Amino acid sequence: MADLRALTDMCVHCGFCLPACPTYQLWGEEMDSPRGRIHLLRQMLDGGQVSASVARHVDACLGCLACVPACPSGVRYDEIIPQARALVESAGRRPWLDRAVRAGIFALFPYPRRLRLARGPLRLARAAGLDRPELLARVHPSLAAAAALAPPLRPPVRLPTRVRARPGGRPGARRAVVGLLTGCVQSAFFSHVSAATARVLALEGCDVVIPRGQGCCGALSRHAGRDAQARRLARRTAAAFDRAGVDVVVTDVAGCGSMLKEYESLLGESPRWTAMDVTELLVSLGEPLARRHPLPLTVAYHDACHLSHGQGVRAQPRDLLAGIPGLRLVSPVDADVCCGSAGVYNLLEPATAAELGARKAAALRATGAEVVAAGNPGCLLQIAAALRAADAPRPAVLHTVQLLDASLRGLVLSAASS
Ligand code: SF4
Ligand code: SF4
Repeated sequence: MADLRALTDMCVHCGFCLPACPTYQLWGEEMDSPRGRIHLLRQMLDGGQVSASVARHVDACLGCLACVPACPSGVRYDEIIPQARALVESAGRRPWLDRAVRAGIFALFPYPRRLRLARGPLRLARAAGLDRPELLARVHPSLAAAAALAPPLRPPVRLPTRVRARPGGRPGARRAVVGLLTGCVQSAFFSHVSAATARVLALEGCDVVIPRGQGCCGALSRHAGRDAQARRLARRTAAAFDRAGVDVVVTDVAGCGSMLKEYESLLGESPRWTAMDVTELLVSLGEPLARRHPLPLTVAYHDACHLSHGQGVRAQPRDLLAGIPGLRLVSPVDADVCCGSAGVYNLLEPATAAELGARKAAALRATGAEVVAAGNPGCLLQIAAALRAADAPRPAVLHTVQLLDASLRGLVLSAASS
């Protein structure tokens, strides 16, 4: 891991990153810009103390990485922010109730089994009307945010450990063998998206291996500065795919993809496989094998930060969507500005997240699209909640692979499909 001082010393204070930063856009405060945060970190390194002000401005950063491609000097803010968060985390400068909420979040979210067990109490709380955000806000704003964001509880899809390639829908020679990350929140609440990913990959000629021993990739913890927990989780997941013997691990979660690609820096050794977003892999396979059925829909594509800024994956999802007959792809204003989801940012900083969510919902609604597509379940939850919050017509919100899956299977989609 590169030295924090050396990383911050690369900043020449030019300010080119400021317009790209969502928190600077919101508040116009220097200390809530990438340049301002780097300045605070330098002061902290000189003085050796994490002040309450440093903690506050680091906590307010979304970790969206929009500042990385915006910086002409190549400042690696993606390497700076995890180290800054780890220092703030270990300094314990937050109020006790905030620390308790964080401890609760990180004792639950990275653990798929605990999340699955939580579905029962969540269902009961909903039935009894105890999940009303206005009620929970009296305890803590993060609980109210969690209730507003919580997805419908669909029956979970149990995936097999291997899905065989059926190129074009028929038995035939496979093009690749890939591992599929099912993760933590994804496996508890978005197993239907993982199932769609496995179907699309199989129809495009891939054997899909889904090892049982995998779990959270460590992204949620890493992005919050909990590196010890991130390393424990990452080691377990890396080992599960090592045992599976795959050369490529595919994910349909933008944040997880970023994390898997940073395993060498997190664990100090590179894994035996290469990580790819599902759209990256599909495009890299070349000419599609499966027939695309028409989807006569207008779709607005939202760039998930960890897909566009974190991994540089912008063209592939658009190309795949544009390849569906009848589908009209439109671009919202500021398509690559963070929606406010940012891992668990929308739970930890709900007011800022809601403001960004409202801006994103307005931009998406202005396109007139019937469907919003994105490559990250966290964005789907955040955007769906922001669209619900306004009394206006709501487009459906779907993962990019759900649209591909529907096209390959000849399904009919409508605004009620999300
Ligand atoms: S990561 Fe996002 S919010 Fe944080 S400084 Fe960079 S652009 Fe701003
Ligand atoms: S664009 Fe880069 S060098 Fe310029 S102020 Fe921002 S981080 Fe520093």
